Amino acid sequence: MRAFDLFRPKDLYQAFDRLELNGHETMLMSGGTDLLIWIKKGLVSPKEVVDLGSIDSLSHTELRGNDGVLIGTNVSLNRIISHPEIKRHCPALIEACEAHSDAVVRNKATLVGNVCSAVPSGDTIPPLLCYEAEVIIQTSCSKRQLPLSQFLVGPRKKNLSKTEIVTHLWIPFPKAELSVGVYRRASRRRALDLAQAAVACTVFLHQGRPEYRLAVGALSPVPVRIREGERVLNETYDIDKEKVERVVNSVQKAIRPITDVRGSREYRFAVTAELVRESLSLCQTRIKTEGGGR
Ligand SMILES: Cc1cc2nc3c(=O)[nH]c(=O)nc-3n(C[C@H](O)[C@H](O)[C@H](O)COP(=O)(O)OP(=O)(O)OC[C@H]3O[C@@H](n4cnc5c(N)ncnc54)[C@H](O)[C@@H]3O)c2cc1C
Repeated sequence: MRAFDLFRPKDLYQAFDRLELNGHETMLMSGGTDLLIWIKKGLVSPKEVVDLGSIDSLSHTELRGNDGVLIGTNVSLNRIISHPEIKRHCPALIEACEAHSDAVVRNKATLVGNVCSAVPSGDTIPPLLCYEAEVIIQTSCSKRQLPLSQFLVGPRKKNLSKTEIVTHLWIPFPKAELSVGVYRRASRRRALDLAQAAVACTVFLHQGRPEYRLAVGALSPVPVRIREGERVLNETYDIDKEKVERVVNSVQKAIRPITDVRGSREYRFAVTAELVRESLSLCQTRIKTEGGGR
């Protein structure tokens, strides 16, 4: 492991100064639960680490009425889990945060860090794709906002230059009377292991009419929405066995799983089919129980 300097900026502008001075040898850190392990393993060797945790303005969530919520880069997964409005509007995201690691790691690990790690198995990414989250990116003199689907470009690759910082995530709340969601993943152990395959399914009820969204993780270079599966689900109100199998088929066609230390390609195909069936069944049950038997 190469030694590095740790810089703790007081504000964003001190952080931008470091990036502009030495961007190619500097890495940003939020919770550090990924970055410090990558450094220890020698996967990355920055000369300097800029710890964004010291910047107070990035440590908050800001609710914008029923429009959505702005989440600063230092907000931990445990804080997301205990946020009542995020729980009400984005239940699949809460389930994904709860599936992540354990309660101790979740105190440090952040939502923005999970997105910026850009690993295919990042637990929070499939539900964030369903909720159409956007990434807010700043330099010392500009600001841009990008759909999450355009931010992630490959395993550990993101649409971000060396002088840019992701300051926030914007999660728009679904305009619906009821928001139901499920996150299911397969892993070798229940806690402290990355997903072998993961499925997020959300349903928004508009005047009793359901709108389904579906996304998967750990099954392709980046987590993806399954548009064809969504089209099948949204064709008609009712979901029967035949429709579920058509959705399973569309997922199988869209994914490109690999064989690695966590599981074989064949296992991933098989377990994904089960996760999709289970997620759809759970969503239907929750619509009935939470929607008062709708
Ligand atoms: C024991 C253990 C268990 C884990 N289990 C899981 C799990 O179950 N599921 C899962 O998905 N992950 C898991 N992880 C991985 C890790 O905890 C998560 O990805 C976490 O959410 C990363 O957040 P962080 O704040 O710690 O990111 P950091 O480690 O601080 O950063 C991660 C990456 O993002 C970059 N970055 C951070 N902040 C910014 C920013 N504001 N702008 C631009 N780039 C930035 C960093 O440079 C780095 O490349 C686990 C890790 C450990 C150590």
